[in-house]
Amino acid sequence: MLVELAVGDAYGAGFEYADPAFVATHNTVRGYVQHPTHAGIGPGAYTDDTQMTIAVAEHLISAEPWTGERLADRFVTAFRRDRREGYAGGFYRLLSEVQDGAELLARIDPSSDKSGAAMRAGPVGLLPTVADVLHHSAVQARVTHDTPAGIEAAQAAALAVHYCHYELGPLAQLGPWIDRQVQSVGGRGGWSQPWRGKVGAQGWMSVRAAITAMTKSTSLSDILRSCVAFTGDVDTVATVALGAASRSPLVVQDLPNVLRRGLENGPYGRGYLWNLDARLLSCTSPLADPAGPSVVGLWGDDSLFQGATEADRVAFVADGTGWFEHANAFATEVERFNWEQLPAGRIRIAFTRYLYLESGKSPEAKEHWHSERLLTARVGRGTDAIDGEATVLTLEAASERPRRFALVRADVTAAADPAGPID
Ligand SMILES: [Mg+2]
Repeated sequence: MLVELAVGDAYGAGFEYADPAFVATHNTVRGYVQHPTHAGIGPGAYTDDTQMTIAVAEHLISAEPWTGERLADRFVTAFRRDRREGYAGGFYRLLSEVQDGAELLARIDPSSDKSGAAMRAGPVGLLPTVADVLHHSAVQARVTHDTPAGIEAAQAAALAVHYCHYELGPLAQLGPWIDRQVQSVGGRGGWSQPWRGKVGAQGWMSVRAAITAMTKSTSLSDILRSCVAFTGDVDTVATVALGAASRSPLVVQDLPNVLRRGLENGPYGRGYLWNLDARLLSCTSPLADPAGPSVVGLWGDDSLFQGATEADRVAFVADGTGWFEHANAFATEVERFNWEQLPAGRIRIAFTRYLYLESGKSPEAKEHWHSERLLTARVGRGTDAIDGEATVLTLEAASERPRRFALVRADVTAAADPAGPID
């Protein structure tokens, strides 16, 4: 979703508050356009919307406490390492002057109801429950937009992502569904009313326009065109709509390559966003659980990394056995284990055998030198190396980088063990 929302932001930035005649002529979705007056933002460059979304995504991935001060730190860090235009003038100056989140919080007047809290809320929508989404989007909103309208707009934007990612219904029902969620916590609603005409600076305007565009079209490029056709604050409309719609299996994912490839690709550009997106989807996936998504199946990482010359696989067989498999051009290593599901997504693995298979040599088998490992497993929707849909298993172990695998098939049996009958 991060690449797509950045494409929406960068494409929309060429049209932000531009003359309607300019928009009508150039809004073809066939390439980025240079904004007629904002010389500081070149074609394909994203703006504050994406930069602040990156900060929110990084904080979710970090699993650090979800507090205003920590989030404010992230906003300051993201800005200082990669200054860019697009921020409102006063906020830009403030970000330039403060050293950290505490100073930002001490000096900011957070009484705005503009779109700044909604435009960056998307990643929060990936969290597994509506309660989590409402809470996390409100906390991040209060840093800069501590008003009922500013907070509710952020919640609505995050809920749109949640509805799409968890496949909760047809897009025509998105607005009424958001109304029910926000009203359950005292919000005003009104998110199903269609937006018409130029989009102003208030957060609720951008979010309502984004929901309207998502309800009208069934392809991502059509949604992008509709967002920009409103005129006004359209980089934010497109950021909110594309972040959500990119997570919907009901929306044809047809963003032209000229927009995907033309997105800026500096240190925090396309490649960075792609990797951050994969980590974000992993860390927000539901914990595997006897009652929830299951780890049973054969999983491999080769489809997640383009041009990989090595492949790791893991199999969790329903009978309580399984194996890790590491293959390169010369040899395959297999670590067999017995596994047991524990509460809270944890899996206890007890290794049994280590097997080494080299082509042209007789296989080696020995006792495994490790006895046990405790892993945390998450299973959720993600994307593979060519942006295809994949079911992704994320395994985390203490003090190691999380490892990701895509589902190869769910009905794995011991017969798929590459070491076969060797014991
Ligand atoms: Mg912007």
